[in-house]
Amino acid sequence: MKVRQAYRFALDPTLAQERALRSHAGASRFAWNWALAQCKARYAAERKWYSAAELHKVWTSAKKADSALSWWSDNSKCCYQEAFRDLDRALRDFIKSKKGKRKGRKLGFPKFKKKGRCRDSFRITGDRVSCAGASVTISRIGTVRTHESTRKLARRLQAGTARILSATISRTAQRWFVSFTVEVERSVPAAHARPGSLIGIDLGVKTLLTGVDDQGSVVTVAGLKPLRASLRRLRRTSRAHSRKRPASTNRRKSAARLARIHARAANIRADALHKATSALTARYETIVCEDLNVVGMVQNRKLARALADQGFGITRRMLGYKTAWNGGRLVLAGRFYPSSKTCSSCGAVKAKLPLSERTYRCDTCGLVLDRDVNAAINLRDLAASGAERLNACGGCVRPGQAGRWPLNQEPGTALAGKTGTAAGNRRLRDRAWRWRICGSEARSLQQGRHRGRRRRG
Ligand SMILES: [Zn+2]
Repeated sequence: MKVRQAYRFALDPTLAQERALRSHAGASRFAWNWALAQCKARYAAERKWYSAAELHKVWTSAKKADSALSWWSDNSKCCYQEAFRDLDRALRDFIKSKKGKRKGRKLGFPKFKKKGRCRDSFRITGDRVSCAGASVTISRIGTVRTHESTRKLARRLQAGTARILSATISRTAQRWFVSFTVEVERSVPAAHARPGSLIGIDLGVKTLLTGVDDQGSVVTVAGLKPLRASLRRLRRTSRAHSRKRPASTNRRKSAARLARIHARAANIRADALHKATSALTARYETIVCEDLNVVGMVQNRKLARALADQGFGITRRMLGYKTAWNGGRLVLAGRFYPSSKTCSSCGAVKAKLPLSERTYRCDTCGLVLDRDVNAAINLRDLAASGAERLNACGGCVRPGQAGRWPLNQEPGTALAGKTGTAAGNRRLRDRAWRWRICGSEARSLQQGRHRGRRRRG
């Protein structure tokens, strides 16, 4: 199976190399802004934009004609070309989104990028980068040391099972990274190592996930809350940051400090999620979980932090491609399937189940069970009862193009005749309540910060 995969390495550039990296990122930003201005000017006159190829032509003549642009040759020509391609795609996506032909949230018109406000990054085509040992060779920049060995990728390149399509070099919290987009020939087993194994997973906030497998054993992965753990430090640092004079050296330094804390939390989270999802997908052929509206839920500002901290969206995405790599499959329950409110023993559905009730008590058959375990059992049994029908167009979730997921059925049609939209809405509210309760702790901490500010004022 051919898959697109990213290999990301932290770089340890020399001072001269770091200057070159900054220069390239700046050139990429300049090219984007220059191209956007050209497109806007042309649109005002002719009602159309330039394509990436046209932009490149205009740029080639402009950089020769304008002596103020003579610095262009300091940087690889790739970073200009790729910026034009990015803008081209951004404009096309904007139109598609406007016409309703693009999935996901509405996209705005591309904006100008400002130094210090935008992400420092640039992209190089695959033929101009290579890696060996603990180093990466980038055209015009040279051989840059990587923090860890690149052997995982280098071996694949040598064996001919991988091809570098492009490399994006970017900066996060004062640290430079190279991310290779690689087309990898992956040997995927025809069948899972443990055929027939099945687990239902309920994603929560207190515990990252609760699963019940086909043998009836309960698997729990405790929530890490790396962000909450570093919240104290974050609070102190951001308070200190807000006291620094704007545009001062001290403010720049404290911003870097703050960014490092955020980056560290993100790393801890990604690591924990990778470990948990790898273990689950290796062990179970079929994984069933809920299809939560993560983007919608994060918009609830009181829950956003607790929710984003658990990385629900990332968990689901990882489960999606890792099940496929292991010859298994991921089944998503319809967004409005009442997994928490249904009795896993007799199938009775409760009209209401407050989130404070952590134990499920069935009024019909008298079942008493942990709430998350009950939900996980329901999800597990859903797969056995032909849950594929709950997935859009019956498809299993395979990694397709990056970030694309099969669309679910319209709300209310997921379980024809059984679950209406009204019940579904209750389900969503039910979820929202849970976040609200768990988010209260984070909220009180946040209020503490505001109190601190008021006292100072
Ligand atoms: Zn019951």
